[in-house]
Amino acid sequence: GCSGTDVASAVRAMATVVAAHRDELVELDRAIGDGDHGENLKRGFEAVVSALDSSEVDTPTAVLKLVAKTLISKVGGASGPLLGTAFLRAATSLEEVDGASVAAALRAALDGVVARGKAEVGDKTMVDALRPAVDAAEAVKDKSVAEVLAAAATAAEAGAESTIPLVARKGRASYLGERSAGHLDPGARSTSLLLRSLVDSAA
Ligand code: ADP
Ligand code: MG
Ligand code: MG
Repeated sequence: GCSGTDVASAVRAMATVVAAHRDELVELDRAIGDGDHGENLKRGFEAVVSALDSSEVDTPTAVLKLVAKTLISKVGGASGPLLGTAFLRAATSLEEVDGASVAAALRAALDGVVARGKAEVGDKTMVDALRPAVDAAEAVKDKSVAEVLAAAATAAEAGAESTIPLVARKGRASYLGERSAGHLDPGARSTSLLLRSLVDSAA
């Protein structure tokens, strides 16, 4: 079993990872965007931690909804509404915390990001990390939560790396055209970091 407190702890761990990688994400976004991705996420997750501190949410769904609402309202830039939508969709499909439910929540998160941002694999966005993560999670969904998340994180890392040679077709990086090739997409990188941090929380 897994309580709202466990999910809140996992979210707090995400905030720590985002803060630790703030400068890296800023540098990645400086190369092909406007250089704010690390700061956007750091501020957003700081607001999430404050919201958790001052509320009494006690179920996984309630925690994830609070995260979603906070990211949507506090993160400037494309990534806030996209990640917020991911958490919102995950919230409504995480009925229990077992491998299959976690895989289903990741699928719902991906569907929300795609519905909102219309990006597909190959467009050089967070979808390049998230879609392979979901596919990998579903392939092992009968295993433990830790194994499902580990499969997702490993696939997300490979998916993020796969964005390096791509020409961006969505988001700010697409304004660069061919010059966007040769750089890791910041949103794909942050997605892989968030999933890896979940593995560490589940361990
Ligand atoms: P902004 O580009 O508005 O400054 P951020 O820098 O916080 O916002 O986020 C940029 C990241 O958002 C990109 O690296 C990319 O992964 C992601 N992104 C941008 N547009 C889309 C989209 N339409 N669908 C999915 N992800 C997107
Ligand atoms: Mg940016
Ligand atoms: Mg911006």
